[in-house]
Amino acid sequence: MEQALVRSDLSSIKIRNKPIPNHLMCSGCSELLINSYQTPHGCRLCQRCFSTELLQSSDRVCPCIHSLDSCRDRARLVEHFVSQAVCFPDTATRKDVLELEVRCPNEESGCEKQLTLKQLDSHLTNECQFEIVTCDRCSERVRQFELNGCHTDLRSPHCCSEFRAPCPHCSDSSSRLYRSEFEEHLMTCPERPSDCKYRQSIGCQTNVAMSQLDEHYCSGTDGHLELTVQRFQQELQRKDSELKEINNLLMKLKTRDKQRAIEVGQLKEKVLKLTERLSTFEKSPLLKTLLNQGRRLSNGDLTEQPVEEDNQSQQDAAVKELNRMGRRRSVVF
Ligand SMILES: [Zn+2]
Ligand SMILES: [Zn+2]
Ligand SMILES: [Zn+2]
Ligand SMILES: [Zn+2]
Ligand SMILES: [Zn+2]
Ligand SMILES: [Zn+2]
Ligand SMILES: [Zn+2]
Ligand SMILES: [Zn+2]
Repeated sequence: MEQALVRSDLSSIKIRNKPIPNHLMCSGCSELLINSYQTPHGCRLCQRCFSTELLQSSDRVCPCIHSLDSCRDRARLVEHFVSQAVCFPDTATRKDVLELEVRCPNEESGCEKQLTLKQLDSHLTNECQFEIVTCDRCSERVRQFELNGCHTDLRSPHCCSEFRAPCPHCSDSSSRLYRSEFEEHLMTCPERPSDCKYRQSIGCQTNVAMSQLDEHYCSGTDGHLELTVQRFQQELQRKDSELKEINNLLMKLKTRDKQRAIEVGQLKEKVLKLTERLSTFEKSPLLKTLLNQGRRLSNGDLTEQPVEEDNQSQQDAAVKELNRMGRRRSVVF
């Protein structure tokens, strides 16, 4: 059947930039009419509805019945009993559907291909690197690009456990190794990729076959020397800038010290002025008078009060008390 898509499980197909046109929509499930079939009563069914809703020979109700109110009446209901045998491939609709521009169903996995539905089968089978396929060896489900890449690369941690190949490093190795064997072989492989021993110390990035390392050490003396000098200069520069930083810090501290000294000087001046003002105040006649009055008062209180009070009548005591208060008031005011 020339117009049929091999893969009919394309429910996730997205038509480019637009919704499914009405005449290309399945009467049963409202999805795109993939591999359309027509019923005698004029319905169009997609491959999936055709094969899951209808039986080969005995009649079933056409799935369009779920969506059509008009089919409630008995007479019309009868004509919706159909079997696969009485339906026929809807060539005209299939042609239209195959011309639709769609996105590859593996779009979310990374395939950016846009194509007509007609090209899709061939794209997914022969071209799409993001199609999920089954590995013949281990039956794992992997993407096509992995099957061609890391799944069949002994050096990859994703390598197929059932895959065998010669060591990719030593050309004369004739034995085909599983990944586990390869890992063991790598310990002693004469051609395994090896870092220069000066990688850490001076940063030589050379990575060559094990057998070529000695040659690298011989011919690389000049390069290693150059790297060493560079390292040395870098180290010197680093130390230099560190020194500069420390110097800056010292300068800042010194400046701060100077400011402190100025502030202390200003404070001393203030104290001096205050002391002067205090001594002029102490010499003032007003203060002398006040001090004398105060002294006299406290003497009077000490001598008069406790001695007399017991022997005198209450009236006398009250008078004296009044007098004292009067004197005090004159001091206060
Ligand atoms: Zn359908
Ligand atoms: Zn129908
Ligand atoms: Zn109907
Ligand atoms: Zn694709
Ligand atoms: Zn991988
Ligand atoms: Zn595999
Ligand atoms: Zn090897
Ligand atoms: Zn080196």
